[in-house]
Amino acid sequence: MQTNFTAEQLADPHVATSEKILRKCVHCGFCTATCPTYVTLGNELDSPRGRIYLIKDMLENGRPADAEVVTHIDRCLSCLACTTTCPSGVDYMHLVDHARVHIEETYKRPFWNRLTRNVLAAVLPYPGRFRLALKAAALGRPFAGLLKRVKVLEPFGAMLELAPRTLPKASDSARPGTHPAAGPRRGRVAILSGCAQPVLKPEINEATIRLLTRLGVEVVAPAGEVCCGSLVHHMGREAQALEAARRNVDVWLGEVEKGGLDAIIITASGCGTTIKDYGFMLRLDPAYADKAARVSALAKDVTEYLSTLDLPQQEARGLTVAYHSACSMQHGQKITMVPKTLLKKAGFVVRDPAEGHLCCGSAGTYNILQSEISAKLKARKVKNIEATKPDLIATGNIGCITQIVTGTAIPILHTVELLDWAYGGKKPAMLS
Ligand code: SF4
Ligand code: SF4
Repeated sequence: MQTNFTAEQLADPHVATSEKILRKCVHCGFCTATCPTYVTLGNELDSPRGRIYLIKDMLENGRPADAEVVTHIDRCLSCLACTTTCPSGVDYMHLVDHARVHIEETYKRPFWNRLTRNVLAAVLPYPGRFRLALKAAALGRPFAGLLKRVKVLEPFGAMLELAPRTLPKASDSARPGTHPAAGPRRGRVAILSGCAQPVLKPEINEATIRLLTRLGVEVVAPAGEVCCGSLVHHMGREAQALEAARRNVDVWLGEVEKGGLDAIIITASGCGTTIKDYGFMLRLDPAYADKAARVSALAKDVTEYLSTLDLPQQEARGLTVAYHSACSMQHGQKITMVPKTLLKKAGFVVRDPAEGHLCCGSAGTYNILQSEISAKLKARKVKNIEATKPDLIATGNIGCITQIVTGTAIPILHTVELLDWAYGGKKPAMLS
């Protein structure tokens, strides 16, 4: 694509990066067919190609964001299906990230939208606040339907609907400390505790720690770690996201110095995609660029790391698992076969639902801020999953679990919970 940025504009490294990305797009439109919002809404401006044009026009003309651009960028799930499809290698992720920061800096959102986003940014990344908010949501749940009928209050209704009816107790797995390897040590890793996941489903990191320590890997949960920054990053709140990234870089490299780390294990693929991008996010910070790149290189999804441990083939368990590949797993991190191979080795029959490339509609805060589109995508996803007639659903991202569980009665678990069970751990409570 031809671009017309001035030399002065290109002196801004963010604009220079976006210009390079824009130039790679050849307008072919292949990406539209796999874009969930285009497939759902049928509007070119809600397709990757349409959004690329909007972003190009806004940046090239040095214009503040307007309501039209904001509408169509807000509708983007950042699912990155377009990057998997694109034959030209257009790095849409960094382009839309830049557009979101530009929107945040130049556009004043309507009051209720601003309030909702401020609440989400102030609550979700902090487990203590999030737990309190979920308890309060239990009281507000009867009003969810009422709130959803008032357009500006719809996101609050969606939040109440998504809040689980009961909350698990706070788990030791989220507390800083070292979990020693059982038997001779063959590795040492740090585990990301996360923000929402330990509140909603501490079983995931508990299963990870049990499995890894049984396999001879020491697991450390470092003190001082914060939310990976993904939630605010996708809202365009770059200062908050970079601050979180810097803190985590310091914490993890501190652990590297103390005892060495083979990997930073991440059990939520949404967080994994962001941490693997820390090197890019902090590339312009001379004090952190190299350190962040080192951290990104150490970041591994738990299934990626497990695949290096050569787990033995287990006997068939007589259970069929529909594997839902989170967008951040398949498109963000390009991890497609590894979780399924591990599940098959663990003795499960694995099925791939149709339209596996399409997002379930969770996408961070999307199911709160864009609840109508999200509900359509969820219904489509659940229909495809149920068509495989599985006993269970497995996935590698807490956001997808929270979303899909509200649409089906089939139990949904994190892949690592099934692997822990298959290799000597306890049966997941949900299946007992
Ligand atoms: S990230 Fe997903 S929703 Fe956004 S343009 Fe790409 S395919 Fe469409
Ligand atoms: S598939 Fe790639 S090159 Fe083609 S329109 Fe989409 S982003 Fe541009």
